[in-house]
Amino acid sequence: MPEYTLPDLTMTIDGRPVAAPGTFGVVNPATGEVAGQAPDASREQLDQAMAAALAAYPAWRADEGARRKALHAAADLMFARSEEIGRVLTLEQGKPLPEATMEVVGAGVWIKYFADLELPREVIQDDERAFVEVVRRPMGVVAAITPWNYPLLLAIWKLAPALLAGNTMVLKPSPYTPLSSLLLGEALREVLPPGVFNVVTGGDELGAWMTSHPVPRKISFTGSVATGKRVAASAAPDLKRVTLELGGNDPAILLDDADPAAVAGKLFGAAFQNNGQVCSAIKRVYVPEALYGDVVEALAEHARAARVGDGFTEGVQYGPVNNRPQFERVGELVAEAVAGGARAAAGGKAVDGPGYFFEPTILADVADGARIVDEEQFGPALPVIAYRDLDEALARANGTHFGLSGSVWSGDPERAAEVAARLDCGTAWANTHLALAPHQPFGGFKWSGVGVENGPWGLYGFTELQVLHRAKG
Ligand code: NAD
Repeated sequence: MPEYTLPDLTMTIDGRPVAAPGTFGVVNPATGEVAGQAPDASREQLDQAMAAALAAYPAWRADEGARRKALHAAADLMFARSEEIGRVLTLEQGKPLPEATMEVVGAGVWIKYFADLELPREVIQDDERAFVEVVRRPMGVVAAITPWNYPLLLAIWKLAPALLAGNTMVLKPSPYTPLSSLLLGEALREVLPPGVFNVVTGGDELGAWMTSHPVPRKISFTGSVATGKRVAASAAPDLKRVTLELGGNDPAILLDDADPAAVAGKLFGAAFQNNGQVCSAIKRVYVPEALYGDVVEALAEHARAARVGDGFTEGVQYGPVNNRPQFERVGELVAEAVAGGARAAAGGKAVDGPGYFFEPTILADVADGARIVDEEQFGPALPVIAYRDLDEALARANGTHFGLSGSVWSGDPERAAEVAARLDCGTAWANTHLALAPHQPFGGFKWSGVGVENGPWGLYGFTELQVLHRAKG
């Protein structure tokens, strides 16, 4: 395996590098060994970060031109340092280095989009009685909390719109992947005024301190449904605004005219991207009985051909599962399905040796009620389920607490789009899946979330509407 030495990383509070009284180990999931240390922030340090963000707010919100300029500079930094930050991301997250580097480049693309996005002022009345405008005001300090699957990009989905709108921010990444966010904080010290963007690291309790802290007016959270509910409860007594981007259990439904050979590669790609650790990855596939055998086999061929290994090794397509609890959970869900009568058409077990590697797994004939269908597996195992009647498939696809996204696949794009519109979820794709873009709002129905990120709608989530009503005459 190629050698990689981790730089020393510090938190960013008020534009300065800050170490913590203690540190915690960050594991490289490809080896299972501790690969670096991250600062374990104290409560006082969180207070300092919040105070710095609050102090920086008035000047930051006052100058829109300076904000746009700083965001463009931040995006340029992401492009310039993509490989360096990408290496840290591969080390702590496990994804192959080219994908990690692309995540950083994507972060730059997202920042550029928001740097130029309009902050509208709408005149809704201008007559002899009054001049009435509706404007979007920033909220103050935003607390941002992120998960471990796309630590850098998901932080930027929050940072770019929040800062453009005139807010300041304190970010807390997942304890499994804190290092790339620490490096992000360090990089942005060059282009953002002190206090505008602070990064603190620690365990889950640091997140809980943030959501109950008196300073932030808004919590922007991405993570699991269970934690999202805790965040909402913790924000409620202070009526903090919340955006919650939570889990998904995305269905893909094939129609009877779909061509198994043509769609299998796309389905596999959207189910196994980032090793299945994507909130809106395909997590279950519904296939008409007549096509079932062919689709299972075509998916299994892709799974068998996939190259799994250390993300630093050239040519590897899929890295390890990010962390031990998640690795064990995927193994348990697969074993339980197989014990219940499912057949592993490909994969089915962990890879021997160190690290959290799991074989890309295609499960056929999964019994009703299996947890791998009803829950979010968030890993490299995909159940494929046969159906007789399209209404029944739609009822099963929609019959869950989740509602993040879904897709329908057909030889006839019109038909795919018509059926996709019947999915109860935030994004319904036809003949594609995981097609995300900065201008497209992204969010979930039901337990998959509250509010959206991206596009103007994502930006508005970091603002309050204010009516400016001037009487005339
Ligand atoms: P998680 O909920 O365990 O942790 C997410 C973050 O919350 C971490 O930073 C964690 O430290 C913090 N946290 C934990 N307890 C907290 C508390 N009580 N108060 C405040 N913060 C707390 O989620 P995870 O395992 O890191 O991420 C995987 C989940 O994230 C999956 O369910 C996935 O679907 C979801 N996800 C959703 C999206 C989306 O945009 N909808 C994107 C990526 C991931």
